[in-house]
Formats: sequence, C-alpha cells, structure tokens
Amino acid sequence: MRVLSIALISLMMITGCENEKKTQSQSGFADPGPITLVIHGGAGTIKRENMTPEREKAYREGLNQALEAGYAVLESGGASLDAVIAAIKVMEDNPLFNAGKGAVFTNEGKNELDASIMDGSNLMAGSVAGVTTIKNPITAAYAVMTKSEHVMMAGKGAEKFAEEQGLEIVDPSYFFDSIRWQQLQRVKGKDLGREANNIDPYIKDRKYGTVGAVALDKNGNIAAGTSTGGMTNKKYGRIGDAPIIGAGTYANNATCGVSATGHGEYFIRLSVSRDIASLMEYKGMSLDEAASEVINVKLEKLGGDGGIVALDRQGNISMTFNSEGMYRGYIKKKGEGKTFIYKDEK
Ligand code: ASP
Repeated sequence: MRVLSIALISLMMITGCENEKKTQSQSGFADPGPITLVIHGGAGTIKRENMTPEREKAYREGLNQALEAGYAVLESGGASLDAVIAAIKVMEDNPLFNAGKGAVFTNEGKNELDASIMDGSNLMAGSVAGVTTIKNPITAAYAVMTKSEHVMMAGKGAEKFAEEQGLEIVDPSYFFDSIRWQQLQRVKGKDLGREANNIDPYIKDRKYGTVGAVALDKNGNIAAGTSTGGMTNKKYGRIGDAPIIGAGTYANNATCGVSATGHGEYFIRLSVSRDIASLMEYKGMSLDEAASEVINVKLEKLGGDGGIVALDRQGNISMTFNSEGMYRGYIKKKGEGKTFIYKDEK
C-alpha cells in the first residue's frame, strides 16, 4: 500500500512538472532580462567642435529627464508602452529635440509632425502623420492603436480623432522655435554669406533630432515609439519613416524593439526596424549583429545615414549609427542613466 502511494505521488509530481514545462514552452520565451529603457534624441553631424559646454549639458539633461521619466514607470511595475510614452513626451516638450515643441520647419514654414508606437506583446501599432495641432503626437499614436480600428491616421483626420479622444490640442504657433526657424532660413540659403545653390538641406544640415524610446518591462514586454518633426525644409505633405511601422518603429517580444532616426527616405526603403527584427528571427543573429548589418552595411551601401536604438527581451541594448553622432542613452537602474552624444563615447 505504502509503495503504491509513493508511486502515485511520484507520478503526480512528474505530471505536475510536465504541465509546468508545457506552460513555459507555450509562452515560447525564457525569463526576461531586467527592466530597461533605451532612448535617442536624433542622429546627425554632431561634433564636439560645434558644441558649447552649455548646450551639451542641456542635451544631456534633456536625455536624462526622459530616461528618468520612463524608468519611473518601469520601476513601479508599469508597462513598457507607458514608459515609452513618458520618455517621449518629455523630449517632445523639450525644444532642443526635433519633435513636438521645437520641431523643424517644412519648406512652407510649417511644423508637420509624425509619430508611432508599437506593442511587442501583440504586434498592435498606431501612428499619426503630418499633424499640426496635437501637442504630444506620441499620445495620438497610442490613441490610434488603442481606440481605433486603424494603424495609421494622417493630417486633419488624425487631428480630429485626437481632439475627440480628449488629447491636448494647441495652436500650430505653439511649435514655433526661433533656432529651428533660423535653420530653415539657412537651409534655404537665405542667410548672408552663403550660396543658395550648393545647399542640399539633407546633406548640409544633418542634425536629425527625432526622438525615440524602446522599453522592456517586468513582464518581458517590449514596446517602441518614435516622434519627429521630420526633416528641415521637407516638402509639403512629406512623410518620413517615423510613423511607418517597420521603418522607424518596430516591436516584437520574440525578437526586439527598435526606434530609428536619420534620413527617413532610406529608412523606409530598407524597412530598417523590421529588417533588424527579421535578421534575428530568420538568421538567428544577435541584436547587435542585426543592427550592425542593417545600419553599417545596408544603410551605408545605399548612401543613407542615421541610427537606431533597440533592445531585446534579455535586456541587451544596441545604439548603432553611421552618422557623426547620435543623442542617446539608456537606464537599467534608478538614478544611473547613461547618456552619449558623440561617436567616440562608449
Ligand atoms: N527620420 C526622420 C525623418 O526622416 C528625421 C530624423 O530622424 O530626425 O523624418
């Protein structure tokens, strides 16, 4: 009898174990890494010699504020999506970055904003393009994802939708920033002493300034988001990579989350963000190998420049760019955010 019950108990234990194994393998994932947030504030020609100590300090502070805001969400057990929104909102509100307040001007002297967000746990996504009155476009992208049956909304329709959702609407003049205005005049060759011809806005003023964030939360969910004013002197109606899922933004718990910055046309043509995830998925590359293949090989070969920030489910991060610099940073522990600007900073 005793032997029989021991045998029965052992059998139950084995079956219990089996069930446990099944649950683990059904989710298909190993345990996630530590909560992590990685951000960028744009790529481009960012050289030490062109930077004043005050300006550099202001950029680092801006990046740190965004890191702290996003990390506070993750630390309190919040979702990666909320961390991404918190970090991006801080940068959208900071005129130093080309997103929200401080966005660059179009050829017509307007601010037309693009943003997107993606949830790596279910591949839901939302984006807005060419909006002019939504104070924080990233919140509108989130509303499109969660409150509409669509992925992407543009222009007046997106603005109407944002208003209906109770998001903060501002007069387009809110986005005006005098430094950005001067940049447009310079790019158009209107400043004294510079030739109008010879000035290719994309080549001569490569300070992209878009903002983005990718987060991993305590449940192992990855989210990514990107927000931008686009490129100085862009033509009316031009949409960049930032609101295009798979180009400027991508997230999938099975591979990685990515947010990009750079010359958007190239990022669209290469589907940069999705390509990084695909190389991990189909070729078994690590995050850094995949990012390097896409940015340092494919983007470079096509003649584009810029970079990405990304992370995977283990909390590995990649901040890869082929431009002179990229405002960037990451945080894995409260109060220990790390920020970088130039190429040679590790
Ligand atoms: N990628 C953005 C765009 O092409 C520009 C940027 O990164 O600043 O619209």
